[in-house]
This record gives sequence, structure tokens and C-alpha cells, in this order.
Amino acid sequence: MKKKVIIANWKMNGSYSFAINFSKKLFNYVKKDVEIILLPSFIYLYSMKNILQKKILLGSQDISFNKSGAFTGEISASMLVDIGCKYSLIGHSERRKLHMENNFIVAKKFKIAKLYGISSILCIGESLQEKERAREIEVIRKQIYAILDIIQPEEWGETIIAYEPIWAIGTGKFANPKHVQKVHIEIRNVLNEWSEFYTRNTRIVYGGSINSTNVINFLKLSEIDGFLIGNASLIFEEFLFIYKLCVKKYSNNLLKLNT
Ligand code: PEP
Repeated sequence: MKKKVIIANWKMNGSYSFAINFSKKLFNYVKKDVEIILLPSFIYLYSMKNILQKKILLGSQDISFNKSGAFTGEISASMLVDIGCKYSLIGHSERRKLHMENNFIVAKKFKIAKLYGISSILCIGESLQEKERAREIEVIRKQIYAILDIIQPEEWGETIIAYEPIWAIGTGKFANPKHVQKVHIEIRNVLNEWSEFYTRNTRIVYGGSINSTNVINFLKLSEIDGFLIGNASLIFEEFLFIYKLCVKKYSNNLLKLNT
């Protein structure tokens, strides 16, 4: 059984003291049943690494698709490895929209991350307009194909796919859990069509306005391997509450399986 995971995407929020205090407090609560990945701003990664000691994993919110060179302001995969990053968030809808990152650019980022041993947290999902036209499956298929088209199975590694309907991100309007279950099944089908290897090595998480109140609706679903959390991850108590709920729910499931 794959380990469940919760991911905190802090975006361009927080401060040095926020990052340090959050890390120190969270460190005391970690259980091995559910993995935590924190995605702070690049500049806090190194200091957080020293506190978290791999009990809590770190990821970047972006990565350059170039190896090195004259790319002012960019951060390369090798630099991220240098400071202890295990994951990189790739293709978040804010980057797709605000930085014009299309499926091809996202695929190049995925490929270079893997080349340096960084696992991707690949964000996919439809816009409101696409949802209203019932095109979500078509959209996510294209987003996944863009990656599978240019890589080999051995480059896939331990990928996490985050299904994040764009209309649910930061809006307070979380997706219908049944809809999420259906899309997650479809994502597994797409992966399986290419190779069973991909399905086996992928965790699929949901992201979009998850908080301590609504998370309970998603914990029951068999197809969800965890959550990508934005706003609610900026409030320590809120994030901790969600984490504890996940530990309780998922440890119970493990117990049932082992008895
Ligand atoms: C996100 O940024 O990916 C996200 C899911 O944000 P929020 O939880 O605030 O919707």
C-alpha cells in the first residue's frame, strides 16, 4: 500500500520566522504513517532542511528546465538537490496561467527534475469553462500525455499527481468528492494505458480549497492518496488538525489491512 501524503504549498507567503517556527513545531508531531511535504519559498529551504532532518520532506514550488547558465532568477535542479529538495511542484495552475507555462514546458521541467533525482508533484486540472463543457477528462489526458510522450518509464520515478481543478484553488469552492473519485480513477486509467508501471509508482492527491472542515468528506474515498493544501497550510493549527485526521484515518485502514 502506498504511503499517504499531505503537501503544503505556501506559495509566496510567510517569512523566515514563520518557516522556522512552523518547521520546529511540526517536527514534534510527525508520525511515519503519513508523509508530509512542505513547499516553502526557495529561500527558506536550506534553513528548514536543517530542522526537519528528512522526517518531513521538502520540495520547491518550481524548477528551471535548463541545467545551468545565463537564466537570471531561475533555480536549477542541481541547486535544489544541493539543499535537500526531494520534490518539485510542476505545472501549478498559477504558473501555467501567470508564467505562460504550457504542457510542453511542464514536461521539460518534469524530465530535468527526474534527471537529477527529484520527484515531481505534477499539477493537472481543468478550468471552470472546461468543466462546464464537461471537458475535464480530455484536459487531464492531454496534460498527462505531454509528459508520457517524452519520457521512458524509468524516468517516472515516484511521481505524485495532484488533481487540482483550477476553479477550486483558493476559492473556497472544493470539488464534489464523487467527482474527484471519478477523475482519480480516470487518471489511473490513463497511466495504465501506457504502462502498469506508471500506475504502481504514482500517488494521486486532490487539491482545491481543502480545510479542516471539508477534508473529512474526502478521507472516505479509496482513490485519494492525500492532499495538496494551499491557504489552510498557512495556519499551523489548521494544517496540524488535517494531518492528525489523516494519520487517524489512514492508520486505521492500515490496521484493518494487517489484521
Ligand atoms: C494550491 O495552491 O494548489 C491549492 C490547492 O490552494 P488552496 O488549498 O488554497 O485552494
